[in-house]
Amino acid sequence: MSQFPLNPCSACGGEVRSQTIPREFSREGTTVRIEGVRALVCVKCGEVYFEPGATDALLGAANALFALSRQNHQVRDRLVGVAP
Ligand SMILES: [Zn+2]
Repeated sequence: MSQFPLNPCSACGGEVRSQTIPREFSREGTTVRIEGVRALVCVKCGEVYFEPGATDALLGAANALFALSRQNHQVRDRLVGVAP
């Protein structure tokens, strides 16, 4: 799906590994959580690197969840989306 290079961590020079992680966004008291986001995570310092373009896609997904939260008055303060 992606072939972005596994560079050493630019923060500490440690090894980075491809992982799927959850990502949370908060806005106006609402938190949305997107599970299964593929990213590179440094095994030493925990720095997280996203693929090029992934941040925009994540923000788009988060915005969609926030919009859903506003539309659906039954939604509590938390929505979870799952990345494909
Ligand atoms: Zn690091």
